[in-house]
Amino acid sequence: MKQLFVTPLFEARLADPALLGALAHSIRTLAADESAGRRWSRDHGYKGYTSYASLDDLDRRDPAFAELKRLLTRHAAEFARSLAWSVRPRLDSLWVNLIKGDGHHSAHIHPHSILSGTLYVETPPGSGPIRFEDPRLPMMMAAPQRAPDAPEELRQFVDITPEPGLLLLWESWLRHEVRPGRARGERLGVSFNFA
Ligand code: FE
Repeated sequence: MKQLFVTPLFEARLADPALLGALAHSIRTLAADESAGRRWSRDHGYKGYTSYASLDDLDRRDPAFAELKRLLTRHAAEFARSLAWSVRPRLDSLWVNLIKGDGHHSAHIHPHSILSGTLYVETPPGSGPIRFEDPRLPMMMAAPQRAPDAPEELRQFVDITPEPGLLLLWESWLRHEVRPGRARGERLGVSFNFA
């Protein structure tokens, strides 16, 4: 059987405890001190802290994010080659997320970007998974239900459990959501867009 119109999800492991530790420290420091982001998170009902709307220069403020930018750019280039793209993706934006308890994020895409992704830095037990959705779903007027044990590539929704150091990259049009967690601790991550 041929596989047509596949939806690749790029996965890699950042097995660098020192870098993950430095990122965790920086995220917690921002969440404690960065008042514009704290205010934005509070005003928008974000359970925790995000720098999404307040900071656009993390890689120039902090060497840990500069190092991360270098690694992400390398992985994005590898992913672009595997997609048979002729462009070299450039990091366009990068923000941190600290999610508490049942914090979640409803389904969305990342407009004005070509690749998007996330790196999990700390994931306490019970952290909510990220759920990807079949992009053809709006066209499936009468598609039969899939068997509960259908292979991953044939499912309409795929959940991925976060783990520290797990890096995911996908094409920015792919809808995804962060499912509510049950964790007592804080889930730390970095999200980004390439253009
Ligand atoms: Fe997202």
